[in-house]
Amino acid sequence: MQNLNDRLGREIDYLRISITDRCNLRCRYCMPAEGVENKNHQDILSYEDILKIVKTGIELGIKKVRITGGEPLVRLGVEDFVSKLNKLGLEDISMTSNAVLLAEKAKKLKEAGLQRINISLDTLDPQKFKEISRRDNLAKVLKGIRAALRVGLEPVKLNVVVMKGINDDEIFDFVELSRREKLSIRFIEYMPLGGEAEAEKFISSSEIKHLIQASFELLPAVSTGNGPATYFKLQGAEGTIGFISAMSEHFCSSCNRLRLTADGKFKPCLAGNQEIKISGMNKKEIEAAYKKALDLKPVCHNLNFENQKYSRNMSQIGG
Ligand code: SAM
Ligand code: SF4
Repeated sequence: MQNLNDRLGREIDYLRISITDRCNLRCRYCMPAEGVENKNHQDILSYEDILKIVKTGIELGIKKVRITGGEPLVRLGVEDFVSKLNKLGLEDISMTSNAVLLAEKAKKLKEAGLQRINISLDTLDPQKFKEISRRDNLAKVLKGIRAALRVGLEPVKLNVVVMKGINDDEIFDFVELSRREKLSIRFIEYMPLGGEAEAEKFISSSEIKHLIQASFELLPAVSTGNGPATYFKLQGAEGTIGFISAMSEHFCSSCNRLRLTADGKFKPCLAGNQEIKISGMNKKEIEAAYKKALDLKPVCHNLNFENQKYSRNMSQIGG
């Protein structure tokens, strides 16, 4: 098998695939209240097209994929898609989901070959969940998390976007949750990618970590994954605690990923506006599109709260 390297020598072996731009939540940090205009069905890549792109990617050096959205579980046939992906010989198939529909789909997804899942959960308080996501769905999400643990989608990671004055008062509750449950809690820095993007809500990972360390001893830990999180745990805890600092301490020099949007574009960087069309192509053209996307990977992202000229919301990229 080959390796895919970009012009800076970074090995790109991880493809994040957004299978839909639709979502059943409206998280304030991700999209405006009215949602974003959905693409027409004919502009969304078919599962067959995605499988063709992944198959070519594997021949070039892609080894791992993550399925994302919008909300991936709202697209019909996702279980069958996972099963087909699973036959292509990937090392790792994971998903990022809000878990609203997970309780009913977890078992089939696991049987289809999904290995693990990251679930977004910013609060343990039902009213606050409603405020942040503009939907009253915390109970369903908690059921989804239970189902993920029960069927063995391991590790189950919880993504917590921390926002000052919104959910920073729950940091200790999440830390305590990591003590009791076999969950990997990841505190994620709030990014200006869609939704309200207010700089005053930003808290850096190091601030969060210091806050935790004032009350708890954090021991170094490890967790499986392809990403940039650093992990710790409380003495004797079932789970772990991770920090993802895309804003304050970016990890661009070790970037290993490429993104495929639901409407058929490669995005070389989460925050860049460069896109390479990849729909309706034959194998040779797909190979060329991979190489072009790699050539266009920037040295580093340009994310900041001052210059918010980003062409897509997070829900249209997939995180
Ligand atoms: N709907 C799925 C979910 O919420 O898990 C998958 C797509 S969502 C865009 C992927 C990840 O992006 C989620 O973990 C979400 O919390 C994160 N995200 C969205 N907007 C963000 C922002 N402005 N800053 C930081 N993370 C964000
Ligand atoms: Fe939907 Fe995920 Fe964005 Fe929330 S973060 S609105 S669940 S895509």
